[in-house]
Amino acid sequence: MIKITQKSISFFHKLQHKVIARGVTPAIISRNRLQIRELSLLSKRHREMSTFKFSDYDCIGFDLDNTILWYNITNMVEMEYQMMAKFLVENKGYDPEYLEKPLTDEAIDFLQKGLILDFDRGNILKTNSEGIIRMVSHGTKFLTTQEIGEIYPNQKWEAIDLLTNDPMAVWNGPWSLKVRALMDYFDMPFSLIFARIVDSIDSKRNEPLDKYEIWPDLYAAACNMFERTNFRKDHSHYFTELKKNPNKYFRKCSNEIVEWIREIKKERTTFLITGSNVDFANFTATHTIGEDWKSLFDVVVCFAKKPGFFVKDSPFWTVDDHEEKEMITGAEMKKGGVYSQGNWGELKSFLGRLCKQESPRCLYVGDNLLQDVQIPSTHVGLETVVVSEELHAEGMVNIAWPHPDEKYLVSSVWGSYFSVPDGEKREDSHWSTIVESYSRICIPSLKVVAHQNIDDGFQAFDGGDKTRGFHPAAPAGIPSEIIS
Ligand SMILES: [Mg+2]
Repeated sequence: MIKITQKSISFFHKLQHKVIARGVTPAIISRNRLQIRELSLLSKRHREMSTFKFSDYDCIGFDLDNTILWYNITNMVEMEYQMMAKFLVENKGYDPEYLEKPLTDEAIDFLQKGLILDFDRGNILKTNSEGIIRMVSHGTKFLTTQEIGEIYPNQKWEAIDLLTNDPMAVWNGPWSLKVRALMDYFDMPFSLIFARIVDSIDSKRNEPLDKYEIWPDLYAAACNMFERTNFRKDHSHYFTELKKNPNKYFRKCSNEIVEWIREIKKERTTFLITGSNVDFANFTATHTIGEDWKSLFDVVVCFAKKPGFFVKDSPFWTVDDHEEKEMITGAEMKKGGVYSQGNWGELKSFLGRLCKQESPRCLYVGDNLLQDVQIPSTHVGLETVVVSEELHAEGMVNIAWPHPDEKYLVSSVWGSYFSVPDGEKREDSHWSTIVESYSRICIPSLKVVAHQNIDDGFQAFDGGDKTRGFHPAAPAGIPSEIIS
């Protein structure tokens, strides 16, 4: 395990060296140094405990969507695509011949979580663990390695270096207008919409534009769908459709998972942090878990604005009749409460009061590798568990467990979520490395842990054997030399 530690740290040193070479700001470098220090501390802890147990934590927190809640991704993504396309055709004047083309098998195969949009160039990227751009699609047309190198010298791009080293730097501010990683099934359809728009623009010219200006319109379409006040007002066809046909979009949460969380709550402090507004969270959780869903948690935080929740100090708001009422401090929070917005620092202090620990040991379970995993891990040292439906859908070594939305989650054109092609070989994808570096274990569904006791041990990621923390088994799509 000592070898593991050194390897992990040298990985960051290598990144740091590359960042310096490319002239990125001192602020980024100092953040990297912080990451290295944090990693050293974490590694020390890992040496002591490369076995993971839920019972090792005083406080155990959960994300809601795609962590506890299991969506019908096929129906959800189809609906999201169609609503966005309709908005863009009707309100922004885009070409219906391209945007309203059917979602053929080929179109669905183009979708994958974790793809990265380069807005200005009209490109969609897939990168490896060191930020090397291995795959690029301009519109829906894939480029050769030579073409990639002509656009991105040495297959690198400053925005990808930032995303790798300090994702908060591209989440907000000027870089957020140039690059975006599609991190969940709410934004996964953006890649196909974006690609089809690029194709439609290129079809009218003989060469690519110097700069595509699609993102502001895509963003407007997303706001139209997801703007939180639209749930109550019925102003969004998206929310109206979900309200009308919940069974089409949500799968019931298994009793096994509900009872498992209930058991944890008897012995530990539990919390929920969701990005959903309180009315939407109540709607989805009531439908999938049941009327008494709040009783699973000692405290619920809605509209948390992750990942900012973990790095900023936004105040908490009380909630009354699904509306934010009064701004409060963490000291005023109460057990069993439901709050809106807020920040991790005050929540952690509150959790400490609940479990009577000055510095409680906290765990967070989520699916979004930036919001739920990398940023909370690097910025506030939160330990995490990843729920990855890709692990379920793509399959695991020697395990057959069919996923009902496999067609939407598995892509033959982009390959495995966990790897990228490097000539004839495959290497770890960027996201696979995030899982291995910043989480303790990765599971395809909470069902995998729900039938275990909370003090059962799991082998955890520790920087050495990269397959160690995947349970019940490693992804089938991880590079074969790693498995062997
Ligand atoms: Mg989620």
